[in-house]
Amino acid sequence: MRVAVIGVGYVGLVSGACFAQFGHHVHCVDKDPQRIAALCAGRMPIYEPHLDALVADNVAAGRLTFGTDLAAAVRDAEVVFIAVGTPARRGDGHADLAHVFACCRDIAQAIQGYTVVVTKSTVPVGTGDRVEHIMRVVQPQGAFAVVSNPEFLREGAAIADFQHPDRIVIGTQDERARAIMTNLYRPLAEAAVPLFFTTRRTAELVKYAANAFLAMKIGFVNEMADLCERADADVAGVAYGIGLDRRIGAQFLQPGPGFGGSCFPKDIQALIKSAQDYGVPSRIIETVAAANEQRKRSMARRLIKACGGSVRGLTVAVLGLTFKADTDDVREAPATSIITALQDEGAEVRAYDPQGMDQARALMPDIAYATDPYSCVAGAHAVAIVTEWSAFRTLDLARLRSRMAGSVLVDYRNIIPAAEAAEAGFRHVGIGRRSVT
Ligand code: NAD
Repeated sequence: MRVAVIGVGYVGLVSGACFAQFGHHVHCVDKDPQRIAALCAGRMPIYEPHLDALVADNVAAGRLTFGTDLAAAVRDAEVVFIAVGTPARRGDGHADLAHVFACCRDIAQAIQGYTVVVTKSTVPVGTGDRVEHIMRVVQPQGAFAVVSNPEFLREGAAIADFQHPDRIVIGTQDERARAIMTNLYRPLAEAAVPLFFTTRRTAELVKYAANAFLAMKIGFVNEMADLCERADADVAGVAYGIGLDRRIGAQFLQPGPGFGGSCFPKDIQALIKSAQDYGVPSRIIETVAAANEQRKRSMARRLIKACGGSVRGLTVAVLGLTFKADTDDVREAPATSIITALQDEGAEVRAYDPQGMDQARALMPDIAYATDPYSCVAGAHAVAIVTEWSAFRTLDLARLRSRMAGSVLVDYRNIIPAAEAAEAGFRHVGIGRRSVT
């Protein structure tokens, strides 16, 4: 099949490369000429494990191409995916649909034969109706269907998630579009992945409901972590104990510094706004959002307390800037809140991240960046591990400690065994368990 993908970010580029791997012919476009130039030169505009090889293989096979001409891409395609960003709108938290609406006008102008236009971007319930209306105004007689097909991949595991999803959700009541979408995803259906066909509005809401539910699990285990600290229990045991109950499930029960990233915070805000628009209370998810914001803001205090109540004039090394491991994405990362709060309290911050430093530099130009964890901690009074990178799990703790001026280690992801940290001479503070000194 001939597929066009609009937007070569984390979702668009991964989806495009994976559709090409299924055997489809995929042309990806983006309005950012630098991103397209990089791709044409064989460079990835984002970091995602194994993406470079997947893209290179499919480019070499002649199934994957890149360009900036949206009209040309759409003219030739049977299916057009919209995979542009839908950030939170400044001021009110609604999803900003400007990019989606801009490209659906361009798509409408370009379509020729029957075309399935698929929203893969995360969009509020009812957006498909608006997209269809905008396209109808441009092309009253156009032959097209607007379908919702939300994406559930996680950055850092995006290719595996796309190729082995728990389900594919497709919102359409157009029979022709349903047949085309079935063909498109045939390799996954043959691998027994459920294709769940439903209405467009239901599909749109599935995505937000899934993210809100997962955020709620994280919020819940974080609350349990706080209780464990006071009650001298261990949150790892509590999470394991409840996770064995299949009604609860073991995943998404790792406590930490609060969730961030380009999806959960903005999707939850957008869901709350949708509920408000429909006059429906959303007390549970509002509480999850508020508790998470408060948690992120309070996380620096944990380190300040471990340093004796003040960090003024002290140097703090921060290991991990991305919102999770295996990505270069620093959007809404907990590290940003922690660093800002530490700076406000007078600390000098030096940071290191295996992949996120380019993005972080643009966001936080006023901190020092190190080239590896050991130079990052040189002369530091405290070290904070904020992202669960594998490379941080295997740090030589004695070497780390020997380079530092102080002994505080705050492990916001519980990736360092407390006893090993203590043995290396650290005063170790974790999450949801007793501190070891
Ligand atoms: P991103 O910011 O990484 O990429 C978006 C891309 O779209 C950019 O390259 C941008 O230049 C391009 N773009 C914007 N407007 C355009 C236009 N008019 N024409 C052509 N290109 C345009 O975004 P992302 O993280 O890939 O997210 C895309 C969507 O998928 C969002 O709605 C997001 O909520 C959703 N989503 C993201 C993830 C994730 O893990 N990142 C997971 C599931 C769903």
